[in-house]
Amino acid sequence: MSAKGKTAIITGSNSGIGLGIAQELARAGVNVILNSFTDSKEDHELAAGIAKEHGVSARYIKADMSDGAQCRALIEQAGVCDILINNAGIQHVAAIDKFPAEKWDAIIAINLSSAFHTTAAALPMMRAAGWGRVVNISSAHGLTASPFKSAYIAAKHGIIGLTKTTALETAEEPITANAICPGYVLTPLVESQIPDTMKEYGMSREEVIKNVMLKRQPSKEFATVEQMGGTALFLCSDAAAQITGTTISVDGGWTAL
Ligand code: NAD
Repeated sequence: MSAKGKTAIITGSNSGIGLGIAQELARAGVNVILNSFTDSKEDHELAAGIAKEHGVSARYIKADMSDGAQCRALIEQAGVCDILINNAGIQHVAAIDKFPAEKWDAIIAINLSSAFHTTAAALPMMRAAGWGRVVNISSAHGLTASPFKSAYIAAKHGIIGLTKTTALETAEEPITANAICPGYVLTPLVESQIPDTMKEYGMSREEVIKNVMLKRQPSKEFATVEQMGGTALFLCSDAAAQITGTTISVDGGWTAL
């Protein structure tokens, strides 16, 4: 059964990787539901633009992924969820002894707990429809660590555990759950950590990109949002029906080091 004509909910999809995945799925004929916490005119225009460009149904639903009730309400309001892409995420860069506790709580809520709530709400819909795909956006930092990103790394390791458990609980059903582990992709999230990393390491912007970010990425190239979209689409294809409970790294060789 192909993904064409199915409906995908992509959390945190008004920019970066989430938007890239929404666009690639829509290009393949998947109806998409965009989400963020902003509810701006531009958010609704993004959805309208995708619908027009790809001839699919596309709409925007506001929900703050830091709030479990709103995560569940997003799925309920959509009314259908064949494909769930748990993508919303934030970052904060600081040493553990200086890491603000409220930042830790926000990162764990948005990057990890939101996926628990959306998955809990979506699985009954997938079971009723007799088909489902859960794709969690983890990170190379779900498999390895770096200094100054304790909350992010804890959340990204955690979501791989949630992915495996989701896969085992749905193993005998036509539902799969997998995680994509991107390396560095030049999105607003990465842009925003450059100034703090410059401060932590005492480096220029160019040095941070070359000596901190792409240092770990043997290809020496940023991965792209289109590549994340293509990988998500593959995980939604028939060819991936027996791929469940695992991770796919799209990281230019980072985790091979
Ligand atoms: P981004 O900042 O461009 O996008 C983050 C998205 O999350 C935005 O759409 C934003 O609106 C949304 N969001 C943030 N807080 C939210 C909230 N409380 N409620 C609802 N939506 C919220 O960043 P990105 O790089 O595209 O990141 C997307 C995902 O990819 C994240 O989970 C991130 O950890 C992961 N990731 C990114 C990279 C990278 O290099 N860019 C690498 C590995 C993993």
